Amino acid sequence: MKKTLLSLRELSKHFSGKTVLDALDLDILDGEFITLLGPSGCGKTTLLRLIAGFEHPDAGTITLDGTDLTQVPPEHRPLNTVFQHYALFPHMSVFDNVAYGLKMEKRPKDEIRQRVDEVLAMVQLQDFARRKPHQLSGGQQQRVAIARAVIKRPRLLLLDEPLSALDYKLRRTMQVELKRLQRELGITFVFVTHDQEEALSMSDRVVVLKSGLVQQLGTPREVYERPANLFTAGFVGETNLFPGRVLSQDDDSILVDVLGFRRKLRRPSFAVQEGQPVHVLLRPEDIRVLDPSGDQGVAGKIVERNYKGSTLDSVIHLEDGTEVLASEFFDEDDPMFDYRLGEPVRVSWVDGWEWLLPEETG
Ligand code: ATP
Repeated sequence: MKKTLLSLRELSKHFSGKTVLDALDLDILDGEFITLLGPSGCGKTTLLRLIAGFEHPDAGTITLDGTDLTQVPPEHRPLNTVFQHYALFPHMSVFDNVAYGLKMEKRPKDEIRQRVDEVLAMVQLQDFARRKPHQLSGGQQQRVAIARAVIKRPRLLLLDEPLSALDYKLRRTMQVELKRLQRELGITFVFVTHDQEEALSMSDRVVVLKSGLVQQLGTPREVYERPANLFTAGFVGETNLFPGRVLSQDDDSILVDVLGFRRKLRRPSFAVQEGQPVHVLLRPEDIRVLDPSGDQGVAGKIVERNYKGSTLDSVIHLEDGTEVLASEFFDEDDPMFDYRLGEPVRVSWVDGWEWLLPEETG
């Protein structure tokens, strides 16, 4: 069991009377890679700036390893920040950029050389030590910024959308590298992104934020497969949300009227009553597109098909107007993949793959 490194308690922040963070509680564990995920304006950067000490909370406390940091100025907090636009010193070599913090501390020359060499090797830039920043690619410059941020071994590294200026391919490569670096260093990373795929693939845990409130805190699988509410279900990944109504229930299952037919589903974690409306959540990859001559599932027709390489993604309109997203592994021997736009099909899903959520009020 990892111990708590950073505790945020009842943290609030307002700007010009507008609440940006509202009594937020969060425990960050020692050595974890945790990601703050949410739409633009939900307060991710503000939260990071409060942890770094660049902003002061209106209420609440920030405690690191039992020490109250709330009043500690940023330069005295045992942490560092990497921003999207990393400000490297343009006239200094890679080596000097990375060595800067240690030189300021007047560390012995030998120690500086050894530590810079070590961290440059970690970010795979050992052959670039003499170059100037303008002689590097964007990804390499970002790696210098990260090397510079970790050279003093902070307890915590805050990363504010550090990869969002990179192109798609480089971004994917850097995601893998950052994760590896974090494992090797054992430093706790607090990473900010609005890219849900990035959050799921990199993190030990994800904090889903909306309007300054934590919607869910969990592992990537928990957040994707068992979303706590409609916001998380819709924000993290694509989803089908079908309206359903509970017809009856017994000890371990419930009978639900969904898409015009009756389906026996697993009992959800929340209490249900007969007649209660529920949402039946199915990810596109949970949907099966079937031959129209069968009697399984519901009838509809294909209105969109997108070949994505490994998957074939379809949009299907059911007779009642419901739109269904399906994403299936592409198999060229399966005749279903020859179905074209406008053709009738049936859609269904494998029992147990659905996730139920209650109606939300307010
Ligand atoms: P993005 O993904 O777009 O960066 P974010 O989730 O990081 O968004 P924040 O930058 O934390 O969001 O901003 C949250 C809200 O606080 C926004 O409405 C923003 O306009 C407001 N805000 C942030 N900083 C200030 C400031 N210094 N003065 C006034 N309002 C601010």
